[in-house]
Amino acid sequence: MMPLPTFRLERPATLVEALRCLSETPGSLPVAGGTDLLVSMKHGLFDPPVLVNLSGIEELRRTNLAPGNVELGAGVRLATLRDDPELRRGHAALAEAAGVVASPLLQNMGTLGGNLCLDTRCRYYNQSAFWRNSRGYCLKRGGTICQAAPAAKRCFAVSSCDTAPALTALGAQVRLARWEDGALGLRELPLEQFYVEDGIERVTLRPAELVSAVLLPVTPGTRSGFRKYRVRDSIDYPLASVAAALRVEDGVLRGVRVAVGALASAPLLAVETMALLEGQPPDPALLAEAAELVTKGSKPVKNQASSPTYRRHMARVMCRRLLADLVA
Ligand SMILES: Cc1cc2nc3c(=O)[nH]c(=O)nc-3n(C[C@H](O)[C@H](O)[C@H](O)COP(=O)(O)OP(=O)(O)OC[C@H]3O[C@@H](n4cnc5c(N)ncnc54)[C@H](O)[C@@H]3O)c2cc1C
Ligand code: SF4
Repeated sequence: MMPLPTFRLERPATLVEALRCLSETPGSLPVAGGTDLLVSMKHGLFDPPVLVNLSGIEELRRTNLAPGNVELGAGVRLATLRDDPELRRGHAALAEAAGVVASPLLQNMGTLGGNLCLDTRCRYYNQSAFWRNSRGYCLKRGGTICQAAPAAKRCFAVSSCDTAPALTALGAQVRLARWEDGALGLRELPLEQFYVEDGIERVTLRPAELVSAVLLPVTPGTRSGFRKYRVRDSIDYPLASVAAALRVEDGVLRGVRVAVGALASAPLLAVETMALLEGQPPDPALLAEAAELVTKGSKPVKNQASSPTYRRHMARVMCRRLLADLVA
């Protein structure tokens, strides 16, 4: 049995209270569903003095699906996103991604904010302290080399949060909240600016800052979808994923956005795929050509349960099939 380390648990009832708790004790961490953080704490990867439990904060669970103004609180459960018929109609990529995170049981507990802030993953890092100690620790936790790519100067742990590529393709923004000089400070960022292509840094959150909501644009006629490759379809992290959103207007493609997940330390926009398709008729040969470009910006290393070559191949196959489904 792997016990949890000792910590103090705070249970704030409001966002402001939560932010104050986080800012009072350096090193304290928020916990939402706990489906990722508590496992990592048992593995000895985090040892926060204080955990700030966000699950009692009603304002983080609010959603607004009014036309033109979709706002999802960070505390909304993945199962809610998966099952919402309105979201499935207008923002299918997000509902589909939420529905393939881990397993239905974990979707009942896991939250949108926790998913977006999921730590990057690596087979040399997401192991017990005993396992890691037997090899020597790596750059991400107390060591001097990367076990996956020994010549590398940075960490290549993989962005494994399924909703992130879906929301990137949908053009979402995150709202971040912070307690600053005695007042609530808010800022909003496009999701692609929230992530950092570095397995250790991973997000641009400042200390004691929280994701409070996700804002989604609503463009009538947008079709979107999400595809994921994993070892076990019943419960597994992604080894590669693709999300796409587009409209077909007057026989040509408009507003094309394609993102790939789990091939780098951040979700990546497939800019070359997008540029090739924008304004063009949805011709099958062109869709196939565009899908071939989807992995252009990614160079995964051997740190997951499938080879980099096969993961990139699967991303291209999934992209081709997804684009074909969306224009059909
Ligand atoms: C067996 C197993 C399989 C899994 N498979 C998948 C998978 O396929 N795809 C996938 O995406 N995930 C997977 N997960 C990870 C996890 O279950 C989900 O990512 C889940 O959505 C995390 O949400 P949570 O609310 O439980 O996060 P928590 O565990 O509570 O938190 C996760 C991280 O986010 C931070 N955090 C939480 N809320 C906020 C906030 N509002 N603002 C800032 N930081 C915050 C926490 O401090 C922590 O660092 C799996 C987990 C397990 C155990
Ligand atoms: S990619 Fe390298 S540094 Fe990063 S977690 Fe894996 S072994 Fe450690």
